Amino acid sequence: MPHSDSHSTSTEQQNEKPLKKQGRVRGGAIAAGVGAAAILAAGGYAYAGMSPSSQFFGACVVAPDRPDEIALTYDDGPGASDTLRLLDVLARHDVRATFFLIGRFVRQYPQIARSVAAAGHLIGNHTMTHPLLLARPLNFIEQQICDCNAAIEDVLGMEVRWFRPPHGGRRRVILRLVEELGMQTVLWNAMGYDWKPTTADAVERHVLRSFWRNQLRGRATNVLLHDSSQMDNPQDRSHTVAATDRLIQFWRAHFQESGVTCRFVTPEAWA
Ligand SMILES: [Zn+2]
Repeated sequence: MPHSDSHSTSTEQQNEKPLKKQGRVRGGAIAAGVGAAAILAAGGYAYAGMSPSSQFFGACVVAPDRPDEIALTYDDGPGASDTLRLLDVLARHDVRATFFLIGRFVRQYPQIARSVAAAGHLIGNHTMTHPLLLARPLNFIEQQICDCNAAIEDVLGMEVRWFRPPHGGRRRVILRLVEELGMQTVLWNAMGYDWKPTTADAVERHVLRSFWRNQLRGRATNVLLHDSSQMDNPQDRSHTVAATDRLIQFWRAHFQESGVTCRFVTPEAWA
């Protein structure tokens, strides 16, 4: 999520335009200072609550120091357009991935959800309707998480241990609630920017840019992709399916050249 404090700076500058009476200057300067600090603090809070790698609000599963490991994770499904085609690609490469499902789509497309689970992929909770949780009351958040778990339990007959907050939005009490519900929060350190119309080339490029950065840092890569859309379902995700196919082939070949076996894992291996 992009973060910029340029807005705070311009507000401060506008408020510091000279005023004629000394008292008003002081008062204005103090008010401007407090205002700017509040804006900066709010910006920092939002940044820490949205940045996928920030640990400010407590520990989440991101990626350990194992650069030969890759976790492919797919959010916002099950999707009526491309989830089944994605399952075919993953099966062809014998890769186990993680799917963070939206509860209302599990209810809407139970057969597709069952296909994901039957293929052996790890299932996670991505709330019932995908709201941004950052500023919502705790009872609303608990309802969102529990409704999604109930949908998954009803349709798939399994308990869920993994949670990913929509847009990565979180705060300390949300992470504590997730723990109390017997789950762990999973974030990411690579993104395909595939939630909008794009191409497989662009998705692959975005993911690999993060992959190389993670390699430099000696970190595993935890890739966020989308097999559907939180808004519209069905939604075209053919770019994600094609990029997944290419990325798996790229990683297998790349690590093989270095004499290392690339391991595709799920957050279970990292918790
Ligand atoms: Zn999502």
